[in-house]
Amino acid sequence: MIGDKAGKATFVEVCSDKGAGILDQAVKAGALKTEPADPKGVEMRGKVENAMLKLGDKWREKDFASLGTGRERLKKILADTSRCIKCYSCIENCPICYCVECSTKKPHFVTPGQVPPSFMFHLIRFAHIADSCINCGQCQELCAMDIPNSLHMHAQQVELEKMFGHVPGVDMKLPLLALVEEREERDRLAATGSDQIFNIFK
Ligand code: SF4
Ligand code: SF4
Repeated sequence: MIGDKAGKATFVEVCSDKGAGILDQAVKAGALKTEPADPKGVEMRGKVENAMLKLGDKWREKDFASLGTGRERLKKILADTSRCIKCYSCIENCPICYCVECSTKKPHFVTPGQVPPSFMFHLIRFAHIADSCINCGQCQELCAMDIPNSLHMHAQQVELEKMFGHVPGVDMKLPLLALVEEREERDRLAATGSDQIFNIFK
């Protein structure tokens, strides 16, 4: 913030109806006070944001280059994940993971007690999350073995975005393989204990 609000207020950009609703509720509850931002401050913020986005793109290019491409990328991911101790931190802290019955805990997929787990453990995460990963970084930040999990996942998400055009965290329109509303889905999972969204064997 600039002017008399510097150090006393913060700039909040509302990007969705859901966000606007949350802000409205906070204002109504007396937790926040809002007022229109100074146009000069908005302009300055736009410039800083652009600079940060450019910096982010540069780092992403560098990080993706470190993964290589094709078979080389697969080998790198296999080598990185061979350090895994199956602590589940990446799964427990991912905002996209919601299954009650986690496939990584099914013995026919991942052998119980085997450390490091087979690559299937990571393949399950990739298959379930890659199209929806918002690159929040939690799975990497909290990995006990310093495995660059979010880099692995984000690299795959970018490829899927190129193929299907879906932008996770932003785009709620098709094309999506399956659109699931979290609250209803959690209720359904809690009621049935089944993680099968669609029963393909019917
Ligand atoms: S970076 Fe992606 S996979 Fe990792 S915790 Fe965040 S949303 Fe989940
Ligand atoms: S957080 Fe790291 S060590 Fe733990 S299960 Fe995930 S990849 Fe493996």
